[in-house]
Amino acid sequence: MLYDRELHEECGVFGVFNLANASELTYYGLHALQHRGQEGAGIVVSDGEKLNSVKNEGSVRFVFPESVLKKLQGNMAIGHVRYSTTGGGGILNVQPFLFRHGEGDFALCHNGNIVNSKELRRNLEMKGSIFQSSSDSEILAHLIKKDYRSTRLDALKEALIYLEGAFAFLVLTKDKLYAMRDRHGLRPLSIGKLDNGYVVTSETCALDAVGATFVRDIEPGEIVIIDNNGIYSDFYSRDTEDKICAMEYIYFSRPDSDLLGLNVHRSRKECGRILAREAAVEADIVIGVPDSSLSAASGYAEASKIPYEMGLIKNRYIGRTFIEPSQALREKGVKMKLSPVRSVIAGKRVILIDDSIVRGTTSKKIVEMLRQMGAAEIHMRIASPQIISPCFYGVDTSTYEELISAFHSVEEVRQLIGADSLAFLSMDGLKEALGNRDFCHACFTKHYPTHLYDLIENANKDGKF
Ligand code: SF4
Repeated sequence: MLYDRELHEECGVFGVFNLANASELTYYGLHALQHRGQEGAGIVVSDGEKLNSVKNEGSVRFVFPESVLKKLQGNMAIGHVRYSTTGGGGILNVQPFLFRHGEGDFALCHNGNIVNSKELRRNLEMKGSIFQSSSDSEILAHLIKKDYRSTRLDALKEALIYLEGAFAFLVLTKDKLYAMRDRHGLRPLSIGKLDNGYVVTSETCALDAVGATFVRDIEPGEIVIIDNNGIYSDFYSRDTEDKICAMEYIYFSRPDSDLLGLNVHRSRKECGRILAREAAVEADIVIGVPDSSLSAASGYAEASKIPYEMGLIKNRYIGRTFIEPSQALREKGVKMKLSPVRSVIAGKRVILIDDSIVRGTTSKKIVEMLRQMGAAEIHMRIASPQIISPCFYGVDTSTYEELISAFHSVEEVRQLIGADSLAFLSMDGLKEALGNRDFCHACFTKHYPTHLYDLIENANKDGKF
């Protein structure tokens, strides 16, 4: 494949309370969150009496044709789009999970990764729990049901205390919607208002998609409860910090989303502006790798006063099932996902902006492609620091050997990808671009906000450390 995203989003969640056609609204919300996962999608709806579920592998459009959506009647719903992280793929791991229980059915879905899931799962199995899936998200359900005497809210609060890692959870019962964030605030979750109801979403772009108004972000350690009496808040932990994932700004989230009050496009543009200041170079044009690098490229161009050009075009109509060209066809120049614009590139000194380098294979292919199109020079500029350490919070870089910068200096990476020069945004530059707020930067610095149990040892074992 000529071009593939080297980092994959974790998942997206969307919930609706007290709105007619809740499943239809959830469908549109999930569609706006589709960039966070295309491997599976699901919706559970409540009509006030019972919960009904539809889920399958594939994109939102594929899983929910109109005929299927019509069957999901009710005014409360939760939905999920999935990119498989812990537990792998397969229909059994597609969320939301629906649990039938004598004391009331409930459903849950999750964005993030529980870092102590192995320990928790082992303990629960020793006590008799039987899991339906290999997903870490199911653990919360078993913890909630650990003590049947607790009230639902108390059971949730007690269960959440056991979980370490990154999570934005939605839980739906027949008449209540619960939304909660981990105590480090690693994954985003926002509340919106629409008519007499509420929506909850991983990203604010989905609020705009359904016409809801932003109310506020859910705080780290907070549980928001929405029922027929209104909306209220509780905390399962007061030992909290604001460590939202920096990669949400750099790469994952949609440019039209605001995370903790900071717009994603503007923060990327600022990264580009600061990069131009930190790593200036003489050139004729600035181009970006679509789509996530275009904001940073426009910022670099603006600050450097070098013209911004559309040098790479992305083919938007590649589906997951599209047949990949054979090696022989690839060598003949059959390109599927990304094409350079020859008349823009030929004879030019090009500054190529990308948001990050993970394995380096994509960067190498893009540089080769620009050379074939006659670029005179290629200066690669990366709008984030070097990724030197794996992520354990739901992003699919879980071993060191997947990361080119874990083993190579900037000069070595430059040689490997074949650019004329290469520079990364500094950590200080990233902090400045994100308004000097606190955030998780562990993949650039190895400073993880949580304990990692045996994950770090496994990452070292699988890698070369
Ligand atoms: S380690 Fe990196 S990708 Fe993972 S949560 Fe932290 S900043 Fe995000």
